[in-house]
Amino acid sequence: MPPLPTPPPLSWPDRPGDLPRHLADRDALQALLKETFPEAEGGLSGIGGGRQAAESQLNRLDAKRYWRSRNHLQGAVTRLSPWIRHGVLTLAEVRDAVFAQLSGRGQGQQEGGKLINELGWRDFWQRMWMDLGDAIHHSQEELKTGHDASSYGRTLPEDIREGRTGLACMDGFQADLVGSGWLHNHARMWLAAYVVHWRRIHWKAGADWFLEHLLDGDPASNHLSWQWVASSFSHKPYFFNRDNLERYSEGRYCNDCPSAQNCPFEGSYEQLEQRLFAIPMAGAIRNVPARRRR
Ligand SMILES: Cc1cc2nc3c(=O)[nH]c(=O)nc-3n(C[C@H](O)[C@H](O)[C@H](O)COP(=O)(O)OP(=O)(O)OC[C@H]3O[C@@H](n4cnc5c(N)ncnc54)[C@H](O)[C@@H]3O)c2cc1C
Repeated sequence: MPPLPTPPPLSWPDRPGDLPRHLADRDALQALLKETFPEAEGGLSGIGGGRQAAESQLNRLDAKRYWRSRNHLQGAVTRLSPWIRHGVLTLAEVRDAVFAQLSGRGQGQQEGGKLINELGWRDFWQRMWMDLGDAIHHSQEELKTGHDASSYGRTLPEDIREGRTGLACMDGFQADLVGSGWLHNHARMWLAAYVVHWRRIHWKAGADWFLEHLLDGDPASNHLSWQWVASSFSHKPYFFNRDNLERYSEGRYCNDCPSAQNCPFEGSYEQLEQRLFAIPMAGAIRNVPARRRR
């Protein structure tokens, strides 16, 4: 592993019990973390902290491609969320980078607008948090699935937590979540919908699991997005089907999935709606690209 960059000196003295400030390399850091937090799953993420790493990722921003491709796992999403979450980058800096990139093209408004919109969602969830306080940890409304809230399991099943569901997509998302601490927005939506609607697990169990691992883990964006999927913070549950997942993941998972012949996501939206929910809901929120999705 490469040596760790020397961090700038901190402005307060060492105290007994503090983690060491200087380590020889990432192996040493990994070993220290394993020893200090033996219960934590996963290793060190490849995503580096600090302002330099943040700026270098910001320089890769491609607002024009973002607009067209953000729903695809291989799309030009910014991957800036860990630095934004920890205050290393501000939303205003990202906004200015978008404006700088698109000015003069005469088409910037439409193309840049999408990314600016998403930055707005982060701000919106933060404001909701200020408004609701700790209530974000509780369902904001009744579920619209037709199922009683008490019928949802309160514990995340071990096969999901350990990536042993036998579904290549869900196990792949689990591996990314635990291994890198970051997931594409679409993968978060699919995984959350699988946990809540297919496995009938309460959104809070899934949301808490995400927060254990996400480097951008943020109570407002995370809990309210899980509630949006579950339908306790939206007027309909969010779900998807195999066609949708296959299309936006470019078949990466379905091609070699051991459960391909018995895929729980196979079917039309109408069929899945009947299977998953107790009340037939004409037009529950589906994974249609043109629609607003959180
Ligand atoms: C179930 C679920 C849980 C989520 N948990 C978190 C979380 O803990 N922390 C978090 O920052 N985001 C969360 N999101 C929102 C979103 O998935 C991530 O912000 C996004 O995937 C981060 O990748 P990116 O930086 O490439 O985003 P981009 O698409 O490149 O967007 C740029 C920035 O805009 C903000 N943003 C984009 N989409 C959203 C969104 N839907 N909601 C809020 N802000 C957004 C982020 O700060 C992001 O870095 C969650 C979404 C879902 C569906």
